[in-house]
Amino acid sequence: MTTSKSESRKPASSPLDDITPAETGLLLVCWLFFLLNFALVSYALYSGAAWWALALFPLSVYTADALSGISHFYLDYRRTTPNVGLRELYFFKGNKGSPKYLKMREEAMEKISPLEKVVFDFKTHHLSPGALARRSFMRLAAPMVMFIGFPLALVSGGLFALGIIGPALLVFICMFNLMLSLAQYAHALAHRREIPGWVQVLQKLHIFITKEAHNIHHQDLGMDFCILSGIANPLVNRIFNFCRRRGWIFEDGLTPV
Ligand SMILES: [Zn+2]
Ligand SMILES: [Zn+2]
Repeated sequence: MTTSKSESRKPASSPLDDITPAETGLLLVCWLFFLLNFALVSYALYSGAAWWALALFPLSVYTADALSGISHFYLDYRRTTPNVGLRELYFFKGNKGSPKYLKMREEAMEKISPLEKVVFDFKTHHLSPGALARRSFMRLAAPMVMFIGFPLALVSGGLFALGIIGPALLVFICMFNLMLSLAQYAHALAHRREIPGWVQVLQKLHIFITKEAHNIHHQDLGMDFCILSGIANPLVNRIFNFCRRRGWIFEDGLTPV
């Protein structure tokens, strides 16, 4: 896939504009997650004087990047439920904004779990990468927040309140959790044609992934799965190849059945 094909022309105009009123709960969970995460870090720094823990930020980026890569290869190669219409959607030849396609999509989505919706999303991203860049910030952050971010924030806050973990570990977990929730946003930015100056700074610092680094994955779907920063790609490539040699990767899982 070429660079120009993988880029979007028009990003979302506001951070919320593709969230419908029916998804207010989703929005609420996302906002709660970000507020809770910042509150936990502030409280840990205030109560435990663990300011040195902020120096663990590069390690939190590396760890979150590695987990983004492992999640990505799991989602890319996970087999979908057969005969629910996902294959027909994936290979649909007409206009994907047409009533026919939208009806087929609605019917198929009713038959699959929230996790499988994310799985399908990752597979279709390989077909039309530019669509990701047009999504809002909350739409991009929501899956990671729902499946990992929010539960982890609650558990780590609870463990801290019970005195089981200290403030330094809590600060590290919160930084890791925040960066992991930004992974799909960083991924979408790598598909934009015009990249804001502040994002270019984050990309130069290897906090967010560059489009050049990410395009390697779109050219070879068997490598470079990390979507936050890309710094953990050498490690994740080794893990992926190990799993592949063991036969734990379903080669036919890349497309829906
Ligand atoms: Zn992929
Ligand atoms: Zn991509």
